[in-house]
Amino acid sequence: MGLIVQKYGGTSVGSLERIRNVAERIAGTYEQGNNVVVILSAMSGVTDQLIEMAQKIGTAPDKRELDVLLATGEQTTVALMAMTLIEMGYNAQSLLGYQAEILTDSTSSKARILDIGANRIKELLAENKIVIVAGFQGTDAEGNITTLGRGGSDTSAVAVAAAIHADACEIYTDVDGIYTADPNICEKAKKLGRIAYDEMLEMASLGAKVLQIRSVEFAKKYNVPIHVRSSFHEEEGTMVVNEEENMEKVVVSGVSHNKNEARITLRKVPDRPGIASRILSPVSEAGIQVDMIIQNTRSGNMTDLTFTVAKSDYRAAMEISQQTARDIEAEEVLGDENIAKVSVVGVGMRSHSGVASKMFAALAEEGINILMISTSEIRISCAIEEKYTELAVRTLHTAFGLDQDDQDSRAV
Ligand code: ADP
Ligand code: ASP
Ligand code: MG
Repeated sequence: MGLIVQKYGGTSVGSLERIRNVAERIAGTYEQGNNVVVILSAMSGVTDQLIEMAQKIGTAPDKRELDVLLATGEQTTVALMAMTLIEMGYNAQSLLGYQAEILTDSTSSKARILDIGANRIKELLAENKIVIVAGFQGTDAEGNITTLGRGGSDTSAVAVAAAIHADACEIYTDVDGIYTADPNICEKAKKLGRIAYDEMLEMASLGAKVLQIRSVEFAKKYNVPIHVRSSFHEEEGTMVVNEEENMEKVVVSGVSHNKNEARITLRKVPDRPGIASRILSPVSEAGIQVDMIIQNTRSGNMTDLTFTVAKSDYRAAMEISQQTARDIEAEEVLGDENIAKVSVVGVGMRSHSGVASKMFAALAEEGINILMISTSEIRISCAIEEKYTELAVRTLHTAFGLDQDDQDSRAV
């Protein structure tokens, strides 16, 4: 008898019929003699609709109330799922975030989980109930409802699994595992059998929304193996696990892309110590995350500084930069919202050289201009024009041998 946490994403609970299918799957796991805790997302599209509605009231809706509103999406699905299971003759009960004691900080719309009491979950399990917990939501120390950022139900699931020492944490979604690239844009993408936490962390931070990055951080910290799989069939999916010895044999295990990027350039900035901090500090003080940065020196003690931010932060970052440019007497500020980032990821890069040059050559061969470059120990990212995103992903997928299954591949 095991203790299993299962998380079902928006598409998997997108209609009453799908909720019924998922309920049957949950019941099947329970019938096999397991204790089951289920974490649910809102029905697909609902969180977006709620955000749109709020934005019709004003462009910057009150943050506390926005969290109260967004949490209703998950409140709906947990109630419907519990009702369905009860109707089928099972003993099920729903819990909202605060009832499951999911304690977070107070950062509205991207709160971080601090602790999970889980007493109520354990009590209900002891009564042999199937426990259905609302994902994506928690409560802060003052009892306010908070939400965990887009895709946050993944993090709820892994955090609950860690808190109750579950034997398995299964993430059910609309793809049957983690692929070498987003299968929705790269048809040659292959399903991976296993992927290391560090690789998944990079892929998630580089745009692979199949797992929210915080969920992978949690999983790594508390050593929770995650099984990402399809809610539509029984096939095994992908295990996200600690790095294993032979994983380094594969140099590049995946290609990620992110269209949510925009860049800002301050041209002809007087080049003196502290200038980068003078430009970037006001941006980060406004809560805007800067991703890539490059600085070019020009003649005559002038420099150009370019950085990227999420598209949603572009307007705010642009306004701040224009003010800074006036203060420091930079010549002009240029902006470009039509960029994207493509990246290759793999723990094997630590022990192989030449990955960057191969990546640049492959992009050049397709006539794709590289606007910016950034690297870490296990990944290389290039900013490119957004219109080339799909082509770039497919090109890199082929260039790094991910199209074919070979002996050393981790694809299944
Ligand atoms: P859910 O609603 O179940 O949480 P998401 O839409 O958040 O599902 O995440 C699943 C989606 O992630 C897939 O439909 C796919 O388009 C996208 N995705 C991006 N990169 C990858 C990848 N490398 N492997 C699998 N899916 C990926
Ligand atoms: N419903 C939330 C969202 O759409 C959380 C999730 O699905 O994980 O972002
Ligand atoms: Mg998701």
